[in-house]
Amino acid sequence: TIAMVARDATGSMAAATSTNGATHKVPGRLADSGVVGSGAYVDTEVGGCGATGDGDTMMRFVPCYQVVESMRRGMGPKEAAEEALSRIRSRHPTFQGALLALSKAGEVGAATNCMDFRYSVASGEHDGDVRVVEVPA
Ligand code: ASP
Repeated sequence: TIAMVARDATGSMAAATSTNGATHKVPGRLADSGVVGSGAYVDTEVGGCGATGDGDTMMRFVPCYQVVESMRRGMGPKEAAEEALSRIRSRHPTFQGALLALSKAGEVGAATNCMDFRYSVASGEHDGDVRVVEVPA
């Protein structure tokens, strides 16, 4: 899965998530990636979020919507991602999943549960400048 959250020079934001579906290749399976609010969500006035992991579990909690709404109420992206994952973890302690969030102000944060997660941050300020961040399980 590749999840992306982007903000352009005008401040307009977008989010999208693909899926490899590798672990659950059941014909017709949709899972979280194609469900707005589960695999990705964005409000250009607030920020955006993308998800990866066990979509069948995560989509029951609509975690990306929760992250964006938490940021709307003033929470930072990392804290918002942690809180959304902790809600899933309270019901499914060993689920594998991660959330990545970007606020309108340009803050980036992520959280993971039971899986190593890695994301990259590219800034248009320095052309080609990409920072890779590791988030251990
Ligand atoms: N979330 C995806 C799915 O459940 C899988 C993934 O993130 O790799 O289809």
